[in-house]
Amino acid sequence: MKLAVIGVGLIGGSFALALKQARLATQVVGAGRSAANLRLALERGAIDSIAPDAAAAARDADVILVAAPVAQFAGIFASLDLKPGAIVTDAGSTKRDVVAAARRALGPRIAQFVPGHPVAGAEKSGVAAATAELFRGRRVVLTPLPENPADAVEKIHSLWSACGAKVTRMDAEEHDAVLAAVSHLPHVLAFALVHEVAGRPNAEQLFSYAAGGFRDFTRIASSHPEMWRDICVANRDRLLGELRNYQAKLAELEKLLQAADGAGLERLFGEAREAREQWLKRSS
Ligand code: NAD
Repeated sequence: MKLAVIGVGLIGGSFALALKQARLATQVVGAGRSAANLRLALERGAIDSIAPDAAAAARDADVILVAAPVAQFAGIFASLDLKPGAIVTDAGSTKRDVVAAARRALGPRIAQFVPGHPVAGAEKSGVAAATAELFRGRRVVLTPLPENPADAVEKIHSLWSACGAKVTRMDAEEHDAVLAAVSHLPHVLAFALVHEVAGRPNAEQLFSYAAGGFRDFTRIASSHPEMWRDICVANRDRLLGELRNYQAKLAELEKLLQAADGAGLERLFGEAREAREQWLKRSS
């Protein structure tokens, strides 16, 4: 199988490394925006050659993974000249906008696009952080289109399975609603907290006393700003809804604090801890 990866960063590089390790990709060609990153991808063995652009990388590929920030997808899709039978898939963190962009750009070739999202990753970016193990035991969500032939969906499913991922399917609407709550909102909260503290006159003092709690809560504020800009803008209706839910929860907490309602606070914290413990048990 000849694989083309458009955007050989953390996700694209890890997919390529995992499929090479599984001996499923015999040839991997990469295209991207940063020459230095592509050279590193070659050195690390994630790709075998560098194409001058996405169109050249995809031209005679069997499978094409688009793994750039989601606002780049429309331009990338529009440039693709696919051979018959080739399958395009993606790693974008949002799905409604990606599917809409693919429909506009690919037109009647839309059946060749199987949308996906590996719900795995890290706050690190670039191929330097890529590993063949990134997707092991993690979820990948496919949001297949009615036009997709079953064997094309199966093919992408089997590639992610070969990366060690647990593959599930849902529609793009549901995907964006779910991910807004458990991924996009937490990232916005982490960026907001760090930004608020950093803007204070005594920020240096505050950071010097910040310990494990602050580090854990804000780890994801080290994530790539461009990637998160694109995700937030693409999924803003769902994200705004989640922000309102969170603000309502903060208002509830504020009331308990104003009333010095220790029992109410303890009940809320206890319920939250129990819910988290149950989630950890189920996901281990
Ligand atoms: P990354 O920054 O590590 O890699 C993205 C790569 O795309 C970079 O090498 C960049 O140079 C390249 N690129 C940018 N614009 C391009 C263009 N127009 N054409 C070709 N290449 C281009 O980012 P990542 O973490 O690998 O994320 C890639 C995609 O995967 C994003 O859509 C993101 O939403 C999604 N995703 C990320 C995570 C995560 O935790 N990092 C998890 C799941 C999905």
